Amino acid sequence: MTNRRNFLKGSLLAAAGTLMASRVKSAVEPKSPTIKNKPMVISTWIHGLEANEASIECMANGGSCTDGAEAGVRVTEADPDNMTVGIGGFPDRDGNVTLDACIMDPTGNCGSVTFLQHIKHPISVARKVMDETPHVMLSGSGALQFALECGFEKENLLTDKAKEAWEKWKVESKYKPVINIENHDTIGLITRDHNGDLAGACTTSGAAFKMHGRVGDSPVIGAGLYVDNEVGGACATGMGELVLKTLGTFLVVEFMRQGKHPQVACEEAVMRIVNKLPDYKDFQVGYCAMNKAGEYGAYCIHPGFNYALHKDGKNTLIDSDSYLK
Ligand code: ASP
Repeated sequence: MTNRRNFLKGSLLAAAGTLMASRVKSAVEPKSPTIKNKPMVISTWIHGLEANEASIECMANGGSCTDGAEAGVRVTEADPDNMTVGIGGFPDRDGNVTLDACIMDPTGNCGSVTFLQHIKHPISVARKVMDETPHVMLSGSGALQFALECGFEKENLLTDKAKEAWEKWKVESKYKPVINIENHDTIGLITRDHNGDLAGACTTSGAAFKMHGRVGDSPVIGAGLYVDNEVGGACATGMGELVLKTLGTFLVVEFMRQGKHPQVACEEAVMRIVNKLPDYKDFQVGYCAMNKAGEYGAYCIHPGFNYALHKDGKNTLIDSDSYLK
């Protein structure tokens, strides 16, 4: 145990050293004199509009694509009226708000927290896991312990509104997760910065009234989010189990690697679900993606999924095409 602690401590110190070195390096390196790309952001659902604005602002102020991804989804996490992400999220069937999040940077580094309670900004804890530990994923009480050690504050995340909804749900207590547009809405967000580098973030309270301990696709690298800076990035929303069973966003990125347009890549990843998982009609899944060239696309199973695109200074909500009409 002591050895492991020492190992972790040593690794953390080493990681912190590397981080500081990279921060010092970026502080002394001159900024690129020519702006090669206008930053661009794509994200899931209508709450993506506000997230995109924060993300673009962060990158306009010199933030990297990773900073932009984190800054964007933090807006959604902090909104108590958003009942599917961060504070105010619907609880599980026992009344606990448990959060999942992950982040991925252009070097292929990534961090994730699952089943995290009491912390409003799981994405920033995931970022710390990525930047300051030798690990990718921390879960449950270990993730909470790490968050507290990093200085995050413990908060009550169950708002009166979410508690009321949970109490209403308890009257019938249907444990089968009914995932449709009303009770889920992860934010997944992909950024491209001035240098053309790609990053992504994904954060959620998961399926409303889920079983205690249930973790969905959103914090799983390759399921809820995947980014390859040479190719593109993709994020997912909807019934996490379907996305997990097909490693959806990894698939989208691999299709893009084969030269497919992001739109086609999203369609083929949805078709993988349709062809492999017989219960697909009962659930929604939506993907959105952006490639290195700034081309984008989205697709979903049922009509109703939309995504926010910030491109060339315009922030627009777009209805995704769907497999079922
Ligand atoms: N994908 C999330 C989950 O299954 C939910 C959602 O996107 O709405 O946890």
